[in-house]
Amino acid sequence: MAKYGLVGRNIDYSFSRGFFNAKFKREGRADQYENFDLSSIEQFGDFLANQSDLKGFNVTIPYKEAIIPFLNELSSTAQEIGAVNTVVIKKDGALIGHNTDHLGFSKSLLNWGLPDHKKAMVLGTGGAAKAVNFALRELGFEILQVSRNAGSSKMTRAQSDPPHQILTYKELTPEIIAQHLLIVNCTPLGTFPNVDQAPDVSFSAIGPQHALYDLIYNPEFSLFLTRGKQSGARVKNGLEMLEIQAIEAWELWQKDL
Ligand code: NAP
Repeated sequence: MAKYGLVGRNIDYSFSRGFFNAKFKREGRADQYENFDLSSIEQFGDFLANQSDLKGFNVTIPYKEAIIPFLNELSSTAQEIGAVNTVVIKKDGALIGHNTDHLGFSKSLLNWGLPDHKKAMVLGTGGAAKAVNFALRELGFEILQVSRNAGSSKMTRAQSDPPHQILTYKELTPEIIAQHLLIVNCTPLGTFPNVDQAPDVSFSAIGPQHALYDLIYNPEFSLFLTRGKQSGARVKNGLEMLEIQAIEAWELWQKDL
């Protein structure tokens, strides 16, 4: 029997525990997946000291970046993204950080059908946005990032070249929205229970040529997707991304390290 789990805060709602325990039951495995709710990342050392049969774990909000100093090694991708959502515990106890969010996003985007245009607008600048940016770059997209804070003067080179521009929501004109036909919501706005919230983009500038992808999966159709659909856009939620990142994490844990 091996143990896996999710490290995060206030994670009772978590998708992962249900997903993995259903998988273990289906496959007749005695393995277990548990939630490890830490009120602060400083508790991580004590927590780990009491987990002798843990083979690996996922990491979620708010620790995807804060976990990094506790790890022995990062995959090159996790290093470049700057966020970890999966940790493999090697036989010698070393902790290796990976990022499977970017694979969840890119594989689900490819399944959905890549748009012909290669300009994407990414809403938010957190850990999820970093993974999405990485995936979009790999797929050849030019990225415009939108933040509440950074103005048009700010460019980022945090990840790979080329650097991309960051605008505030107020700086988004209908022309800019028309030029970016893939819009990805990487903010938590609209997730349950705050279902009446949506990012501050002008939906009147969105039309049938647009594709709107929301990382949120609960509710199935966030206000962002509902309003996009009303404007004629193609829409997709984050459920497939979530399932793919979980499967990719599982495959990492099964490697005999
Ligand atoms: P996060 O770090 O808490 O927030 C992401 C960014 O959203 C922030 O950096 C911020 O960017 C913006 N933001 C936060 N609160 C906002 C508000 N009230 N109004 C406008 N913008 C706001 O979260 P995250 O880890 O990146 O995750 C973002 C979302 O993606 C969450 O809902 C998470 O559940 C979801 N997610 C889904 C998957 C999946 O597999 N489907 C994977 C990862 C994450 P600025 O400060 O620059 O505005």
